[in-house]
Amino acid sequence: MVKIRFNRSTDTKRWGLRLFLEHQIVVNWTILKKSILLLILAAVMNLFWISWDIFVLTHPAYSAWVHLNLVWSQLWTSLIMLVVLVALIFPCHFYRDRKWAKEFLPLITVQVFTAMLCHNSYLVGSFSPATMVGYVSVVGVGLILFNRKMIYCALVPATIALLFCNYMSIIGALTYAPLFNMAEINKVAMHPFWVGSMMFFLVPILLACLFLFEVLLTQWRTRETAIQVLSRLDPLTNVLNRRSISSYLEKLHQQPDPLYSIVLLDLDHFKNINDQFGHSMGDQVLVQVARCLANNIRDLDVIGRFGGEEFILLLPNTTTAQAQSVAERCRLAISHLNFITEYQQEFSVSASFGISSSVSADEPHLIISQADQALYAVKADGRNQVKIFTDLAID
Ligand code: GH3
Ligand code: MG
Ligand code: MG
Repeated sequence: MVKIRFNRSTDTKRWGLRLFLEHQIVVNWTILKKSILLLILAAVMNLFWISWDIFVLTHPAYSAWVHLNLVWSQLWTSLIMLVVLVALIFPCHFYRDRKWAKEFLPLITVQVFTAMLCHNSYLVGSFSPATMVGYVSVVGVGLILFNRKMIYCALVPATIALLFCNYMSIIGALTYAPLFNMAEINKVAMHPFWVGSMMFFLVPILLACLFLFEVLLTQWRTRETAIQVLSRLDPLTNVLNRRSISSYLEKLHQQPDPLYSIVLLDLDHFKNINDQFGHSMGDQVLVQVARCLANNIRDLDVIGRFGGEEFILLLPNTTTAQAQSVAERCRLAISHLNFITEYQQEFSVSASFGISSSVSADEPHLIISQADQALYAVKADGRNQVKIFTDLAID
């Protein structure tokens, strides 16, 4: 005899923990957590710029290819920005539950980040490879992570500003890429210092955004697969739901000369279980019956929940006689389940089975209907038995 104790709390706790771990998905993070991620990314970018500035300032060999006053200015602005970015992380973390923080801090973060990018884009060239790579990568990640309206609010003015800088540079009203001494650099096509600097500016942002893309896409694919699997299952018993059963049956039926049996089973007097021991206990019984059925069929057989307390077994390459012995085995196994409520009341259940096969009808829905008639006959005949449709007339 299989003893099953009913414990209301354990299952919920385990699920809660599992759900928490599985749902640490970046796109589902709170907006302030995402803002912190953006601030950290911005701070790292600033560190790269600062290190470039320090490198150039400490190597006089490079001073002919830059405008030193602007390198100094970029160093100071980057240092100030670094302080601002790190300082913004604190309110994002400590006021994460406040409404005002959720509303304004992400907005400020995105605007500060964009302003910082625009400023540096102007310095290194508003049409340079570093600017273009940064623009595309940051917009892509931003649109996935944040509210689109918020991104466009920063993107539109930033794009206008960059285009304006381009235009002003074209008409000669503004120096293009003022950080570099372009007059010197342009003497050589693909000047190594310029190429090296571009690589230094664009590679980190490209790698960071590619990494984020990879994380987001992997999590998205995992979730997509999980949703697909879940949409095929009955959420309570984890066996196939009625929709999946129908499509599986169609596939089975479309095979050349299909041979399969269908077993329909319905728990006897199940309403009484709900009435006497509560709906949760009834649910627990359904879960255990589904498990019991799974333990008593072959791997290629399929179990589905057909209705409330009604299950269906699809048995490929099985005659009704073979299906009868499977059903008999399941019937006995179900009747041996022994349930104990939290108040130590013991009870067991039984089920009625109806069988039909592809031999006795041409259409899947007709075979199901025949199995249902056999099941109905069992109910009329006192329940807890197995009947085959083709034997009904003889009975
Ligand atoms: P019979 O032997 O004639 O099948 O009697 P029965 O009581 O099993 O059948 P009836 O159709 O009268 O009642 C079925 C009950 O199954 C009623 C419904 O509340 C219950 N039920 C259906 N789905 C669920 C469910 O998901 N969970 C629980 N706990 N009960 C359910
Ligand atoms: Mg019933
Ligand atoms: Mg029923």
